[in-house]
Amino acid sequence: MWYQEHVSLYGWTSFRVPTTAAYGAICSHPEELPYVHKLLPLREHPVVVLGNGSNILFATDYPGIVLRPLFRGIHLLEYDEDTVQVEVAAGEPWHEFVYTCLRNGWYGLENLALIPGTVGAAPVHNIGAYGVEVSQFLEGVRVWDFTTEQLCWLPAEELLLRYRSSILRETLLGKVLVTHVRFRLYRRARPKVDYPELARFLSDSGIAYPTAEDVFRAVCAIRRCKLPDPAHIPNAGSFFKNPVLPLSVAEELRQRHPALPTFPHGSDTVKIPAGWLLEQCGWKGKRIGNVGVWQHHALVIVNYGAATGEEILRFAELLWRSVYDRFGITLEPEVLILPREAWNPSSR
Ligand SMILES: Cc1cc2nc3c(=O)[nH]c(=O)nc-3n(C[C@H](O)[C@H](O)[C@H](O)COP(=O)(O)OP(=O)(O)OC[C@H]3O[C@@H](n4cnc5c(N)ncnc54)[C@H](O)[C@@H]3O)c2cc1C
Repeated sequence: MWYQEHVSLYGWTSFRVPTTAAYGAICSHPEELPYVHKLLPLREHPVVVLGNGSNILFATDYPGIVLRPLFRGIHLLEYDEDTVQVEVAAGEPWHEFVYTCLRNGWYGLENLALIPGTVGAAPVHNIGAYGVEVSQFLEGVRVWDFTTEQLCWLPAEELLLRYRSSILRETLLGKVLVTHVRFRLYRRARPKVDYPELARFLSDSGIAYPTAEDVFRAVCAIRRCKLPDPAHIPNAGSFFKNPVLPLSVAEELRQRHPALPTFPHGSDTVKIPAGWLLEQCGWKGKRIGNVGVWQHHALVIVNYGAATGEEILRFAELLWRSVYDRFGITLEPEVLILPREAWNPSSR
């Protein structure tokens, strides 16, 4: 285990902002977790667990403990005729795990290729892309509980997995650390290609009967065209969630904005693409100082090199305000903003 006081978070998050944490710690094995309690002032300070920091914005210096589990390992636990059960350590890179699954003939996660980050973070936001959410393949997680100082098992049913949300992101945030994630995957490929952008790409490529490998390659190609690579252009992916509205409210909005796109979400709600709302407000490709909106994707805020967390936060508030003023819709950040009270756009 490594730990230090007053740690720079610059290289620990994909937004690359020059903030610090009062304490930073890195654990390489779950057996080291009890020492975190012995060596760091956990009772006096808030804790946040960090994977690759690709969905987080430290708006200011963090007065607590930032803890990174770098545990590695992928284990096949059991298999039957149709499925395999695999347990994966939290620090495994997500995309490499998806690729390993494909090579081993464990199917289902292809649509989630190239999402940055770690396996341990995947259930926290219930990551999703191109018509698939990780919750569809989750059996549960093993967690270290900072209160009881014990390992325990949380089955998927108890995680309250919803669109970009789970109990791990809400009430258990900073209270537990995911050490391992358990998946149930198919042994026969069932390519899921009904997401319009993916279907179009495959059809334009002349692929009528796509394999899981075709889906994996297509998703990687689409993402590489559309999204900025955080290794070169710091960003945290979609800054806001797509708002989910009751059908009646969406219908009312459509009276005023006939082009409003909607996607089914449950029986009496629809999802509205937040990127479309921002594009209508003229944000796509716009830049103010060190911060801007990505030219190919209006939901992605990018740091052009020297932005502070505070600058990114203020910029995001401008986006929020313009959507609220034009559509009356309250956008909710998908990115975790710390400290949490820093995000309060309606007060400005
Ligand atoms: C270019 C780009 C594209 C993206 N595209 C997508 C996409 O298509 N779909 C999507 O869903 N997301 C997307 N994201 C967001 C991001 O990749 C995911 O949320 C990812 O799961 C974050 O992983 P991470 O390891 O970086 O987590 P971090 O950003 O470090 O943490 C994210 C959250 O998980 C918690 N956490 C992390 N590890 C643990 C752990 N071991 N135990 C407990 N809590 C933990 C953190 O406290 C925090 O709340 C994208 C991001 C970028 C930069």
